[in-house]
Amino acid sequence: MSLLTLSFDNGPDPEVTPRVLDVLASHGITAHFFVLGKHLGTAEGRRLVERARDEGHLVGNHSFTHAVPLGEDVRPDAVEAEIAATEALLAPLGLGPKRFRPFGGGGRLGPHLLSPRAVEHLKEHGYSCILWNSVPGDWLDPEGWPERALADCMSRPHTLMVLHDIPKACLQELDGFLRRARDLGIQFTPRCPPECVPIVDGRVTGDLSGLVSGPLG
Ligand SMILES: [Zn+2]
Repeated sequence: MSLLTLSFDNGPDPEVTPRVLDVLASHGITAHFFVLGKHLGTAEGRRLVERARDEGHLVGNHSFTHAVPLGEDVRPDAVEAEIAATEALLAPLGLGPKRFRPFGGGGRLGPHLLSPRAVEHLKEHGYSCILWNSVPGDWLDPEGWPERALADCMSRPHTLMVLHDIPKACLQELDGFLRRARDLGIQFTPRCPPECVPIVDGRVTGDLSGLVSGPLG
């Protein structure tokens, strides 16, 4: 049996996120959304997060600007500017335990993702760090990504997939992909594969060695 956990990054987007939520609702699927602080400055952005929350989805922090990966961001206040500033906007929305997903490199895992300071911050503030094991490239190929996505699902017991609720990405083919996945017997779950969550509620439970730009304290 293949399990699939869906996640949608880089939103919320006023045009796309509502339609992604509609598609998920029509399939009865609970997913993860990793949002950007820069999109939460408007009442509409915050309302979309509340809608996702109210519809049972899990919402987490994906940085404020999504500009320079934390492992390569030399600003002394990068952690505050990217993680803490976004959390300050999410905290009043009542989203439950804190969750952070790093970004960078088109979904490549590597030492660019986190800095030692970022890891310390995640531990200190009780975050879970949610990675992934599938990036089918919806933003590069809005029509063709489902083929790679289905192949990924069939290649391992539990896939945690990164899609994007932004324009010109997964939305156009999302409903068709979910139908095909169902027809193949793939089961949807909001639970993440443990190997994709190296920090759980501030506790390091996995191997961070390849994911951090310098030595950990
Ligand atoms: Zn991203």
